[in-house]
Amino acid sequence: MMIRDYLMLLSWLCAVQGKIGYFWHITDIHYDPKYSTQGNAASMCWNTRSSSDTERIRLDKKLAGEFGDYSCDSPWALIESAASAMASHRGGGIEFVLWTGDALTRTAGMSAELRLQCLRNLTDLLSRTFKEQFVFPALGHDEGVSFEQLAVVWSQWLPQEALDTFQTAGYYTIEQRSEKYRIIFLNTNLWLNTPYNRNLEQRTDSIATDGTPDPFDQWKWFESTLDSARRKKETVYIVGHTPPGVDERESGALVLSETHNAKYLRLVSSNADIIRGQFFGHWHSDTYRVVYGDTGQPVSWIMMAPSISPSTPGGPNNPGVRLYKFETSTGQVLDYTQYYLDLPEANKNGKANWIAEYSMLDYYELQEITPNTLHDLAERLTQSNDNAFVRYYAANTVSLSREVGQVWGCGGPLNGACALHHYCTVTRLNPESYNECFSSYAYPLASMASSTTPLYLYLHLLVLIAAELLRNR
Ligand SMILES: [Zn+2]
Repeated sequence: MMIRDYLMLLSWLCAVQGKIGYFWHITDIHYDPKYSTQGNAASMCWNTRSSSDTERIRLDKKLAGEFGDYSCDSPWALIESAASAMASHRGGGIEFVLWTGDALTRTAGMSAELRLQCLRNLTDLLSRTFKEQFVFPALGHDEGVSFEQLAVVWSQWLPQEALDTFQTAGYYTIEQRSEKYRIIFLNTNLWLNTPYNRNLEQRTDSIATDGTPDPFDQWKWFESTLDSARRKKETVYIVGHTPPGVDERESGALVLSETHNAKYLRLVSSNADIIRGQFFGHWHSDTYRVVYGDTGQPVSWIMMAPSISPSTPGGPNNPGVRLYKFETSTGQVLDYTQYYLDLPEANKNGKANWIAEYSMLDYYELQEITPNTLHDLAERLTQSNDNAFVRYYAANTVSLSREVGQVWGCGGPLNGACALHHYCTVTRLNPESYNECFSSYAYPLASMASSTTPLYLYLHLLVLIAAELLRNR
């Protein structure tokens, strides 16, 4: 072939493949303005002690690090370092940024004014970082200010029609008219299990969802938005804070109520042909889920990016930010690169060196990102002759060092029950089918596994049985 032919072939390939773009996904910043390097980890890294205490703790070397601590929410220095890492790793070529909530610390003790001010500071930081892009925020449950106030803070990024629904109910949609894809931002707080919503009611001004099958008409809106996308031949991303399914780190974090969880999965599976991706946060871990259709075939996938905050009740993780690569004309996700900060190293060196942790296709040896390939990857998690689970487990806590990781998690990559637990969370998105999955495979596994495994299994099964008994009481 002549060079000219090559060039023609190349341009033809480019035309067929469409334009390639990138977007960042950041989540669960959990900024704590009270974080102090004079604070100690046992008290949220707040400086609440007398100077003699500080001296003693300094001698014990238990003071909080400059860039954060595995037991505490994020200091400003960590968040700033994440922002400049994103700016330097890919300043250009970014189409937009997804920011999926829980911007502020979980710990109480912040006035509504302080919360609002912190949200403004974070918003300013992100708009300075992404001067030419829109940042699209999804509401978390730890913002703690009203929809109206947030709508004002975020009005620079949201068009009027998005602001209209956001300020009354916390959800909105963005239509990329030139490219024929649409992003739907859900307010997952409206579908959480009931006890938290009551809690939330006191903290924000207008959440009262108890007993309502469709709080703030979000279901109605979601369904009609999907219908209109279908009519207009658009493809769709769904973005939110709390994902459906079971938390693989068993952190006790909030989950969607069983009814809303089931309804979400039904709606996604019946619209899977137009959905090109679902992006959530909340678990703080790096993980994904596969959604199956009526006949059990994989039809859609959900990605959870890890948090910027290094701490969660389910155990620590290194801070992460994620860069997706996609085809802008169709929304087809082509790959992503996970960036992270080795927290102890950053604190030791006094310098935050964010680096690429891995890229999805290469790391898991995949040809493409589709429901089928992610289903196959899940199947590989339980196969001992495959390194997929070792890799998944390392990524799950964002390359946490083994010494730190040992204390947490379900026993590590060499533990069969641990692999099974993760496999079941990835492939079974309602609590009942998760339990079935875990217990139906657990017995044959126990007989093959090492001597410590059965005890873990029996304990786990005991917990399942106890939960079942309580539920049926
Ligand atoms: Zn959350």
